[in-house]
Amino acid sequence: MRIAVIFALLLCGPLQASEIVNDVSGFNPVEVAQVLVPTRLEQIVEAVRAHPGPIAIGGGRYSMGGQTATEQALQLDMRRFNRVLEFSAERREIRVQAGITWRDVLEHIDPHGLSPQIMQSYANFTVGGALSVNAHGRYVGQGPLVLGVRSLRLVLADGSLVEASPTHYRELFYGAIGGYGGLGVIVEATLPLVPNSKLARQSEVMPLSEYRQFFDKQVRNNPDMVMHNGILYTDDYSSVRAVSYLRSDAPLTVEERLVPNDRSYTIMRAALGLADSKSGGKLRETLVDPWLLDGERVQWRNHEASLDVRELQPISGPGYSYVLQEYFVPEARLEAFVGGLKRILDAHGVRVANISIRHAKADPGTLLAWARADTFALVLYYRQGSAPAERAAVASWTRELIDLAIANQGSYYLPYQIHASREQFLAAYPRAAEFFALKKRIDPTNKFRNKLWDAYYR
Ligand SMILES: Cc1cc2nc3c(=O)[nH]c(=O)nc-3n(C[C@H](O)[C@H](O)[C@H](O)COP(=O)(O)OP(=O)(O)OC[C@H]3O[C@@H](n4cnc5c(N)ncnc54)[C@H](O)[C@@H]3O)c2cc1C
Repeated sequence: MRIAVIFALLLCGPLQASEIVNDVSGFNPVEVAQVLVPTRLEQIVEAVRAHPGPIAIGGGRYSMGGQTATEQALQLDMRRFNRVLEFSAERREIRVQAGITWRDVLEHIDPHGLSPQIMQSYANFTVGGALSVNAHGRYVGQGPLVLGVRSLRLVLADGSLVEASPTHYRELFYGAIGGYGGLGVIVEATLPLVPNSKLARQSEVMPLSEYRQFFDKQVRNNPDMVMHNGILYTDDYSSVRAVSYLRSDAPLTVEERLVPNDRSYTIMRAALGLADSKSGGKLRETLVDPWLLDGERVQWRNHEASLDVRELQPISGPGYSYVLQEYFVPEARLEAFVGGLKRILDAHGVRVANISIRHAKADPGTLLAWARADTFALVLYYRQGSAPAERAAVASWTRELIDLAIANQGSYYLPYQIHASREQFLAAYPRAAEFFALKKRIDPTNKFRNKLWDAYYR
């Protein structure tokens, strides 16, 4: 008996009993049965094979709606499963364990003059977490992360290990990417790399009504355009600051190759705090952003890729959190969606600290694709209280915004608070039935669970 226990401990590594886990918002405490922090593949395989109850998977825990946990689950905390397994500068390719952060990927590849093809805005997330939400960033001519991954290795509910790619076990590849840990544990990923390059920043303000034309002429087909986003000013939702990063040979104004880990974010935080205040939107548009964004800046692509969420902190505190929401609409529906967004937010007296506009190319086939066509994405960032009344109010206007996105043939993003009704989820993700059928086939006892799938999977 004693030998069996010692063997189990050796195999499974650090195992903590009954623990409350939460995410960055602090809004979703969940009591799980155990937390396992694996460092070796066999520990994951053995835990999945042997554990009789539910299993939930946690990466960086930057999702904001309980997507990493459910009651009484064994939570796999992937953050120490984080090694680089293979790297080839010639093939421009890296194979990593899924708990590695993008920051660690950047530190490994930067000395070789290489950069991830696609990642999201901040480098703190894990590769497995980013793949499981099919994340996106500001890269022009790119889109969901599925476009920037060659293959995956997955541990399925029966403990088997499968390699999946666009040509091999493609259903698993297109199901697990964007599958929020519902099909299995992503344990490894092979990512293509591109040259790191110097980028010069440009920024200009224009009416929202001219932004799409600007995007068509200056951004979409510009071979030097590497990153781009718009800032939609929320005083009256009618003007956009277009911020572009173009390949350049100009001398660097920022010498550091990556953002230093001890960077101070005081100015950025002050700017966001200002935008959050009553008349702050106008001040930000006319004073703060011109000062922050108009000056000449030439930096490495990896420098911009290595931003840290600390620039937003504190994201949450006692009784509040800054939270995100994101909506996707076909290109031609941008202005119509923004008109409706303003109406709904004004009607509910909601003040939004920041709205970022991004563009993504259509998804090549994930079952839970959020970009079914070339898409504009609107990312909302606002402060919310945790009191039940405030959460109920947010749930109510969020459902109105989801209806608005659906009415515009669009969708909404799933890593945030889970307010959508099941009907809204099914309307925004029309291939969910295929995802559920696949899950039923490969995970017949519904082993892989979390709050997202508890809400929508029957
Ligand atoms: C401040 C902030 C900024 C953000 N910016 C962006 C952005 O620019 N672009 C964007 O697309 N999103 C963005 N997000 C959302 C964020 O990308 C997602 O929450 C992302 O998944 C975070 O990665 P993570 O490692 O924290 O994953 P977690 O939150 O830990 O997990 C997310 C989901 O993936 C599953 N999962 C995690 N690891 C694995 C694995 N190895 N195998 C199987 N399933 C797994 C989890 O079960 C969960 O369902 C942002 C969020 C915040 C809070």
